[in-house]
Amino acid sequence: MIQKKIKEIRDSINKDIELVAVSKTKSKKEILEAYNAGQKVFGENKIQEMTVKHEELPKDIKWHMVGHVQSNKIKYMAPYVELVHGIDSLKSVKILNKEAKKNNRVIKCLLQLKISEEFTKFGLSKIEIESILNSINILGLKNIKVAGIMTIGSFTENMNVVIKEFEKSKKIFNELKITFPNLKILSMGMSNDYKIAIKHGSNMIRVGSLIFGKRI
Ligand SMILES: *Cc1c(COP(=O)(O)O)cnc(C)c1O
Repeated sequence: MIQKKIKEIRDSINKDIELVAVSKTKSKKEILEAYNAGQKVFGENKIQEMTVKHEELPKDIKWHMVGHVQSNKIKYMAPYVELVHGIDSLKSVKILNKEAKKNNRVIKCLLQLKISEEFTKFGLSKIEIESILNSINILGLKNIKVAGIMTIGSFTENMNVVIKEFEKSKKIFNELKITFPNLKILSMGMSNDYKIAIKHGSNMIRVGSLIFGKRI
């Protein structure tokens, strides 16, 4: 079932769109099933859970942190994490840079754009994103690379709301790219809205329940 779902999603999207299989709460067995279908990129939202899975599963898996990042836990994932999606403060950027340096690595991350019309706890405005990108340059942080922008659409049945948010995200992403051409990734779209997200310019989708089934 998991293998079939992975294949279905892959067949329905363009080759240059990255599929992140969001495996939070799912077992090693379920992850291996996806892995055996050729899936190598997995997303988790808790650093400890991801670290245990990283230790116990095949080493060629690329682990993405898609959840909100608690700065005091960054050190646990710094040795291996491939991409950190949900960075929303200069403080986290600095800690990520410091921990990356300790591990002799350059860690890629995405800055989280707050786009939802409704109240959401996390994320940055366009101006705050510009300010962080400028600070990284000024401070000369060399062990962190901001590779793009991540956004989460509103949790609503009303797809018109989501479409508006994705259009706005794409517009802001394009505007930011003029000044910061290293921004390449737009991480946008989950199980319910990934098709809409791709239509509006996403090149990285984070799909969990559609692949692995509902989380309990
Ligand atoms: C859980 C999660 C996903 C996957 O959600 P599904 O609706 O199960 O596809 C994607 N992105 C983030 C940030 C998540 O926390």
